[in-house]
Amino acid sequence: MAKIYCVANQKGGVGKTTTSVNLAAGLAAQRQRVLLVDLDPQGNASMGSGIDKQSLTVGVYQVLLGLAHVSEARQRAQKPGYDVLPANRDLSGAEFELVDMDRREHCLKKALAEVASEYDFILIDCPPSLSLLTLNGLCAAHGVIVPMQCEYFALEGLSDLVNTIKQVHANLNSDLEVIGLLRVMFDPRVTLQQQVSAQLVNHFGDKVFKTIIPRNVRLAEAPSYGLPGVSFDPSSRGARAYIEFGAEMIRRVGATTTAL
Ligand code: ATP
Ligand code: MG
Repeated sequence: MAKIYCVANQKGGVGKTTTSVNLAAGLAAQRQRVLLVDLDPQGNASMGSGIDKQSLTVGVYQVLLGLAHVSEARQRAQKPGYDVLPANRDLSGAEFELVDMDRREHCLKKALAEVASEYDFILIDCPPSLSLLTLNGLCAAHGVIVPMQCEYFALEGLSDLVNTIKQVHANLNSDLEVIGLLRVMFDPRVTLQQQVSAQLVNHFGDKVFKTIIPRNVRLAEAPSYGLPGVSFDPSSRGARAYIEFGAEMIRRVGATTTAL
């Protein structure tokens, strides 16, 4: 049965999508069966997996509203081979349409239950807000992966996210926990980044992943080719870091390796 993780941080542009797509690819490269859910109307995780969001007719929007099954809406990202439940701008309408629905925070959880046995990992790329879409992600998940840049303001935003996670844990999903904080876009030459990184480890201990994702231009170039950085340039420092992060996740959750 799949372990389900949200990649969440309400701050924009902190590396959520880059982490979701490359962790999906990194896990797939290590023979894990992966479904990547694009829960952001920007559709960046879909595009970054080579799926054309403009021509999408069935995606996560229809799934959330109960108009389609995941099995009808998912598409295959060929390199290195993982499934994607794609999104485009239609999804922004779901915020309003979900409001009137019964158990509106649990729509994604209900939909994913149908396919959970087909995967080892389901990863959910959340939008940069603590909206009803993000709540659906948090209610469906066993844990949260929080990508963050080692900057002063990163710590401020973190307390809002941790409070939301605590509230969801108390009221909606008692399985939910923070799996870990992932340091991304890291530049060791910047003293402030080193200081914030050390502060994070002091404060959060082993909730900080050992793997550090460096700032690496190949990761930023890859989406324009419709590929995860891990597939676009496997020998780049960024790709190798995400493969290592995949291995750390497998160790952390004790997932079994499934032969393809
Ligand atoms: P949003 O909040 O808009 O969804 P996000 O948190 O998903 O954004 P990304 O889209 O993953 O953030 O990354 C923001 C930008 O930073 C992108 O242009 C991406 O290519 C770039 N980027 C992410 N990680 C790295 C990295 N390790 N090295 C270099 N560039 C990176
Ligand atoms: Mg994003």
